[in-house]
Amino acid sequence: MFSTRTRRVQTIPWAHPPTERHNGAMLSASGRRWGHTVRAVLNAANLTTVVGLLIALAGRSQLRGGGRGLVLAEHYRLGIPRRGAFTIGNVVLFPNGSLNDLAQRYPDILDHEGAHAWQYAACIGLPFFPLYAIASGWSWLRTGDAASANFFERTAGLSRGGYVEQPRSNAGWKRLIGMPGQERH
Ligand SMILES: [Zn+2]
Repeated sequence: MFSTRTRRVQTIPWAHPPTERHNGAMLSASGRRWGHTVRAVLNAANLTTVVGLLIALAGRSQLRGGGRGLVLAEHYRLGIPRRGAFTIGNVVLFPNGSLNDLAQRYPDILDHEGAHAWQYAACIGLPFFPLYAIASGWSWLRTGDAASANFFERTAGLSRGGYVEQPRSNAGWKRLIGMPGQERH
């Protein structure tokens, strides 16, 4: 098991895209709709939403609209990845469950996943995948956990995504070089 050491997740002001910030208090409803439309068009054009829909269909997901231009793919049945939710383009996939199931534990999960949808748009689509992989590897080396020091997960909000932040202990580096006493406990 992973260590249970925790550190309070700090709020990062730039972690929340303007159109998502605190239920849109900063923007009018029409401004939010405009932002969500831009995001949907960008992720359709950069093909990541198409990839997301194909993976959702491969996983025999149940599709429905999620608002904000997002598509919810619930009860996704492929075994990977093993997480509560993940986003590809504007498609939010829920392995073996639904948004309502997950939102009971993590009420801001759709805000977190919506931030990932913005990240796809910002990365002009497919480059998101290698960049996310690099960020995950870096995070693992620094903390022993793929999310805690991952730029993309931190920007989307660790606590909103249900992650418990691990300290920067270089746990991954130490495991890699076989330093004693760094096995999981
Ligand atoms: Zn995330």
